[in-house]
Amino acid sequence: MTRDRTHDRVRLKAETVETSEPMGREPDPWADFRSIEILDLEWSQHYRHSLGKYSRFFLELEQGRFLATRCPHCEKVWATPRPLCPDDRTITEWFRLTAMGTLVGFSVLHRPVASIPDLTPPYVLAYVALDGADTLFLHVLDIAGDITKVAYGMRVRIVFRQGQVDHPIWLMRFEPAGDTETGS
Ligand SMILES: [Zn+2]
Repeated sequence: MTRDRTHDRVRLKAETVETSEPMGREPDPWADFRSIEILDLEWSQHYRHSLGKYSRFFLELEQGRFLATRCPHCEKVWATPRPLCPDDRTITEWFRLTAMGTLVGFSVLHRPVASIPDLTPPYVLAYVALDGADTLFLHVLDIAGDITKVAYGMRVRIVFRQGQVDHPIWLMRFEPAGDTETGS
């Protein structure tokens, strides 16, 4: 690969790459198409977004508390919280859970995420049955890059992050509970 510096007229050009026939065919049927131009395109968006009736969930995360909602009619506890019970359309009430749960499903991810730069791959996208909830909560399980730490049925806990984040959902994440069965 060679960087062609004669094309600086294009501001977002990263490089021009001369590629070769990958199968070794001769003559190369695509010989006239082997100069590949690569651009660094920019795309940014800015918009204001309301968290609506879900807002208290995120505001409580700032205080290190995890809230579900509980339906006063069927008593089902929703986490992720639901302002309206999906089963019977009753307005729910806020209900604080302990920060403990059980891993019931997961997927291991190996690519870093730009929005959570302090998360070391591989990490886990986890479905967690929180203690006291009737639904599953999907979030990141931080295994500190050690895949041997994850197993179905393992106990996990919510850890609340200190410092500034881009979106309030990143004020929390799951970690293996280890021996510390102490909720908050
Ligand atoms: Zn209900």
